[in-house]
Amino acid sequence: MSDNCIFCKIVAGQIPSRKVHEDEHVYAFHDIAPWAPVHFLITPKLHIASMAQVGHEHAALMGHMMTLVPGLALQAGCKPYPEGGYRIVLNTGAEGGQEVHHLHMHVMGGPRPWLKG
Ligand code: 5GP
Ligand code: ZN
Repeated sequence: MSDNCIFCKIVAGQIPSRKVHEDEHVYAFHDIAPWAPVHFLITPKLHIASMAQVGHEHAALMGHMMTLVPGLALQAGCKPYPEGGYRIVLNTGAEGGQEVHHLHMHVMGGPRPWLKG
């Protein structure tokens, strides 16, 4: 856990969130300010600041996060591919639009138009 990291606090249950999924390595929760009818975040429990800090030692963790998406997206209300589907976004750094510096994948879906994206 990193001091003053909002997502570490969410993972630890110190800040409330609407849980989508939890296992040993990952916590997923609904975004507080959704851009789309379905918008949740998948974050590792381990504090990794961004995609820029990801290395080969994180291959299994990153694979785990990605492979959770199809099931969680359907559970969260995305319609099946190809009519439905979703967008996965991983903002990295200031120019990448990252605001919270604890790695997280956005999963967005549902009927358009969306607020953004
Ligand atoms: P970023 O811009 O870093 O890729 O995305 C951060 C996301 O975290 C934003 O979409 C924002 O709405 C969401 N967020 C920020 N603070 C909280 C919070 O306290 N709870 C939840 N559920 N989402 C948050
Ligand atoms: Zn953190």
